[in-house]
This record gives sequence, C-alpha cells and structure tokens, in this order.
Amino acid sequence: MAIKLVDAHIHLSDPDFDKELSYIIAFLKNSNMILLSNSMDLESSIKTLELSKSLQGKLLPFVGIHPWSAQNENLENFEVFLNKEKNLINGIGEIGLDRKYAQNEEAYKRQVSVFEKQLEFAEKLEKPVSIHSRGSQKDVIDIVSSFELKGVLLHWFSGDYQQLNRAMDKDYYVSFGPTIIYSKRSRDLAERASKDLILTETDGPVRYACFDNKPALPTFLPSVVFALSSIIKLNFYETAELVLKNSSSYMNMKL
Ligand SMILES: [Zn+2]
Repeated sequence: MAIKLVDAHIHLSDPDFDKELSYIIAFLKNSNMILLSNSMDLESSIKTLELSKSLQGKLLPFVGIHPWSAQNENLENFEVFLNKEKNLINGIGEIGLDRKYAQNEEAYKRQVSVFEKQLEFAEKLEKPVSIHSRGSQKDVIDIVSSFELKGVLLHWFSGDYQQLNRAMDKDYYVSFGPTIIYSKRSRDLAERASKDLILTETDGPVRYACFDNKPALPTFLPSVVFALSSIIKLNFYETAELVLKNSSSYMNMKL
C-alpha cells in the first residue's frame, strides 16, 4: 500500500492557485495525499468548503479568519456560516495573532478578540485549530491554554526553544515546511520537537527559494518529508508513517 503524505497546512483556495487548480485537483484525486486546507476570511472559507466537495476525503476543509483579515471581517457573518456548515467542516483555521498585521495596539486587541472568539467556536464545535503565531508565540500559547481544545497545531513553528518546550508540554502539534530543507534554525526546532507532535506542511502558495520561488504545491511534500527524515533519523517511509499517525491524532480521526 502506498504511503499517505499529509499537508497539514495549505491554502488551496488562494487565487494564486486558480490557474493550475484543475490540474492540482486531477492530481490529488489520483494521489495518496491528504490536505488540511486553510482559509483566510469568509470568502475563502466558502471556497475551501466548495473545494472539499470535489475532493472528498483528500481535502479536509479548515475555515477561519486569519489575523491578516481580522480588522475588516464581520465575525457575526462568519459565525452564521460556521453554524450552518459545521458538519462539513473539519477544523478552524487559519486563526491566530501577528503584530506585523496590526498598526497599533487597538488593532492588535481586535486581532486578539477575533482569535479568542474563534477558539470559543472550536471549543464548542470540538474541532481542531490551525494557528498562525509568527512573532506572537507567547501570547498565542497563553491564550490557547485557557481553552479546552481537541487538537492544536502551531503551524510553521518559529518560536524559541523555551516556547517550543511550552508547546510540547501542552501536547500542541507543530508543523514544518520547506524551510527545514535549507534553514538551520528550522531544522534545530524540528530536531528538538517531540517526534509524536510533528506534522508536515507546505503553506502553499507561499514561495520558497529552494523551489525556484514558485507557489508551493502539494507535490513539494515528499521533499519536506525527506528533509524531516534526515533530522529525526528515521527512513522516509517511517517518517511518513509517523507524520500520518500524528496527523490522525491531531485531527481526532483516522486519515
Ligand atoms: Zn497559512
């Protein structure tokens, strides 16, 4: 049986994929890849959900309001959508905090309140969350700790070692993408993370120098798994099996 690879964080609804979308869908239908596809706002959440219908079981939809969109999105409209579609939704994401997207303290407070509200939804609906924590790892861990959540992923983890240890103590998952191919800092973090809490991702359509700055595709995933295998000192297949097992635990379902 071919091994399944899991992209724990990608944005297939992103317009950067539009031109190639039919090719990507055809590829995924015949592949053994599973994507946890994240959203940025209500519009992309609706699109992600639509995509999941044509990729049953291969694309698991995450809906949410990203800190990037926190200032302008209407949370009430999002809540109505969420409650209507809750049975078709696999998780809440991408949600989180990022001071880079907040011009002032007031804007950051708005991010925090949008984040907390979505964590409440996730708690109530018993859905896993996919979290953006760049530069805000401490605040994110402080806030998330006060909720009873089913599965927590700090995607593209880039905090310091102390924050990593805090996340590991709380059984939060961390995911690593193409940066572990070329960045010593990312590789060091992956090496120190608990093996049972590591997931793989592309965060497509983010562009990486090692892939000629083209939008990251699910097809980059084997390279990420291979890089991870050299860091955690397992072979490729053992690494893929481990990540599949971790992803199932995070999602609270068999993938
Ligand atoms: Zn993302």
